[in-house]
Amino acid sequence: MLNVRETLKEVLSLTAKNNQWRRKEAVNLIASENVMSELAEAVYLSDFMSRYAEGKPRKRYYQGTRYIDDLEIKLSELVGETLGFPMVETRPISGTIANASVFRVLGNPGDKALIAPVQAGSHVSHTKFGTLGALGMTQIYMPYDEQSMNVDVDKAIKIINEDEFKFIVLGGSVYLFPHPVKEISQAAKEKGIKIVYDAAHVFGLIVGGKWRNPLKEGADVMTASTHKTYPGPQGGIIIFSDEQTHKAVSKTIFPYFLSNHHLHRIPATLVTHLEMIEFGEAYASSVVNNARALAEALAEEGFKVLGEHLGYTQSHQVVIDVSKEGGGAKCAELLERANIITNKNLLPHDPPDAVQNPSGIRLGTQEMTRYGMGRSEMIEIANLMKRVVIEKEEPEKVASDVKELRKGFLERKYGFSLADAEDVEELLLLRR
Ligand SMILES: *Cc1c(COP(=O)(O)O)cnc(C)c1O
Repeated sequence: MLNVRETLKEVLSLTAKNNQWRRKEAVNLIASENVMSELAEAVYLSDFMSRYAEGKPRKRYYQGTRYIDDLEIKLSELVGETLGFPMVETRPISGTIANASVFRVLGNPGDKALIAPVQAGSHVSHTKFGTLGALGMTQIYMPYDEQSMNVDVDKAIKIINEDEFKFIVLGGSVYLFPHPVKEISQAAKEKGIKIVYDAAHVFGLIVGGKWRNPLKEGADVMTASTHKTYPGPQGGIIIFSDEQTHKAVSKTIFPYFLSNHHLHRIPATLVTHLEMIEFGEAYASSVVNNARALAEALAEEGFKVLGEHLGYTQSHQVVIDVSKEGGGAKCAELLERANIITNKNLLPHDPPDAVQNPSGIRLGTQEMTRYGMGRSEMIEIANLMKRVVIEKEEPEKVASDVKELRKGFLERKYGFSLADAEDVEELLLLRR
């Protein structure tokens, strides 16, 4: 029979262990994760997490929404101002839901989308295996250019002019260099085809001014997650330069893809956005500088780092080829035992069926940057990784050195702390 008190103890203990491990002992290099600031987390834990607000601000289906209305309007205004495009949809509860509502509006079952090649990092949600497929659509890929590790622009333009499809998706999950939005949108505009840019990974770099704003380069819609390089709560957001798509998406997302939109995200995202206005540029440039420093240091230690001839990376990501060291799956596991958290990844030359043991590992510097790590820590991390992956040292032995490194970087930077909310007693009510 279930022992409730025993099970409760176990639940609390597992949660506490994870907090201790991931917040205090491990070096997290997962490229799609981040941590909120201390204050954003405090704000996240509010009464809003228990409330509903279906519909749009001031036009809700429930009473009791006066404060969330103000916050939601404020978030749209601020994000719109930062990016230079005032049409913002704040309700998607994830990047996938953002994509789903945009794809639903731009295409119908049976239609095709033209998307970035897998090798240039397109996300599963852009394909028939994911969200696109759930909507009854399928994809054609733009050709890949090995030299630039990117979309082959000339061949893509030929497809745009000759093939049948309803919309284009650029942006991705594993990408070191920006996709050619300008060139592709010029060709697409002539045919009246809309461009969606999926900025899930690089939204924080765009807001911080270190990655090109795709809407300024001709994209009609930008979808994003709010928790990857953008260090907010888990959620999604959409920004539009095209009014028609904006109107259609705001009628589609509710009621097709959500009813409630997880209201406690909204004030926490606002706090994050204010932090990005104040510290975003410094944060984003450290993230990118750290990525380059990590790539160089890894190469120096003997790792095969992708994109050497192009300067390794312009994003927060670094990709290494560990096929000679036993493959991505095995190396990622060894690294985890050493308290270095990463993920295995398909590389451009891998066959598609190598998902279970691909050649690569993807790394991201955004979270450790938020904890204040810089160039010299990147060099240290590269050395710790070498000991595990190349020198095959016992991972548990390296783990204590990783813990030791992490110990010096426990405070979150580039954001607000609880001291910034000192005079708002009620804010921390739910902590008591
Ligand atoms: C992570 C990711 C998504 C999905 O975002 P979620 O917020 O996890 O749903 C969509 N597109 C790309 C390119 C991503 O990397």
